[in-house]
Amino acid sequence: MISKKMLEAGSRKSIIRVIYDFGKERAAQIGAENVYDFSLGNPSVPAPEIVHQSMKKMMEEEDSVEIHGYTHLQGDINVRNKIAADINKKHGTSLTGGNIYMTTGATASLRICFSAIANPGDEFLVIAPFFPEYRVGIEQAGGTMVVIPARTTDFQIDFEALEKAINPATKAVIINSPNNPSGVVYTRETIDRLTGLLKKKQDELGQPIYLISDEPYREILFSKIDMPYLLNEYDNTMVCYSYSKSLSIPGERIGYIAFSPKLTDYNELFTAACGSARYLGFVNAPSMFQKVAAACNGEVANIEIYRKNRDLLYEALISYGYECVKPEGAFYLFPKAMEEDASAFCAKGREFNLLLLPSDDFGCKGHVRIAYCVDPMVIERSLPAFKKLAECYGRG
Ligand code: PLP
Repeated sequence: MISKKMLEAGSRKSIIRVIYDFGKERAAQIGAENVYDFSLGNPSVPAPEIVHQSMKKMMEEEDSVEIHGYTHLQGDINVRNKIAADINKKHGTSLTGGNIYMTTGATASLRICFSAIANPGDEFLVIAPFFPEYRVGIEQAGGTMVVIPARTTDFQIDFEALEKAINPATKAVIINSPNNPSGVVYTRETIDRLTGLLKKKQDELGQPIYLISDEPYREILFSKIDMPYLLNEYDNTMVCYSYSKSLSIPGERIGYIAFSPKLTDYNELFTAACGSARYLGFVNAPSMFQKVAAACNGEVANIEIYRKNRDLLYEALISYGYECVKPEGAFYLFPKAMEEDASAFCAKGREFNLLLLPSDDFGCKGHVRIAYCVDPMVIERSLPAFKKLAECYGRG
């Protein structure tokens, strides 16, 4: 008998799949240029030139057996040293290569952290709205996900709710800023309050509470925001980083975990992370892309396009009567749906060939996610459809 649990997981038709199928069908009927697909967070700007240059250089100059060979489970030590040195230079930390674990992107970084610390009954607090894959990862690790409801006025953290939720079963808090799906960046005040609260609770409970910071959008920021580096703010931090969005290489599967050297029981935790990766079946992150990541660390794809898309779409939506917190990062808008049921609102949007994601899976009802990482032409052409959708609800 096959696994019922996995059969169920594989059979579940996600809303993304429904939308994807709809988009394909409509494109065949009316032409792809008349379908406005805002459903996927797939970067739309090319990787910076240096990515391809460093790949070419490696292929021409380096030993091909080595480039394509296995590395240590945790990654090539030269790569890890270079990334640690870059982080130290940028954020004033004191990391060594030994604090860096190369992974196949943020998904793997998160999974490794979850499984490294979870014991049955442990609670992982996630702040809504959140990336839906957290649920799968926490469940798989044997933990329990506890949702801190969204503070929908600005999508910062509802500290009253967070404080109430922390108890002796709390193992970790997961944050994601800039956020998918809201695009909101946590302010310095939010980070100060968060780390202050966690320190206080650790002292009261006499146990570590880990902070897992999911940061694939760290560099996708549209204004000069003071974005504290969490390893400098709170000792029990693990930063889950990915090059998927910053370098526009999501299909290459490369990222890392930066472990604070001050983590409680550091050596045991790092060893558990190695065990967790083995258990999860991660052998090593792609060898060549480890080296590419080291060579291109700190480089960022042209995010000006995302900024222009955000401005154009945000201004238009507000003028049509949508309500939306202005995002300062990532490439998502998260306006309120114009009826209570976000799925019904998205279905109405599909009547105008607008492909939007309802917010329910993000742990925050009544909103829609618009991934504006698309060709600017798509935004321009889609505006009349957004207007017509708003008109259906007496706005627009
Ligand atoms: N975390 C968040 C918030 C994301 O939005 C994504 C991808 O969209 C991931 C993690 C996974 O990123 P990766 O492609 O590096 O696995």
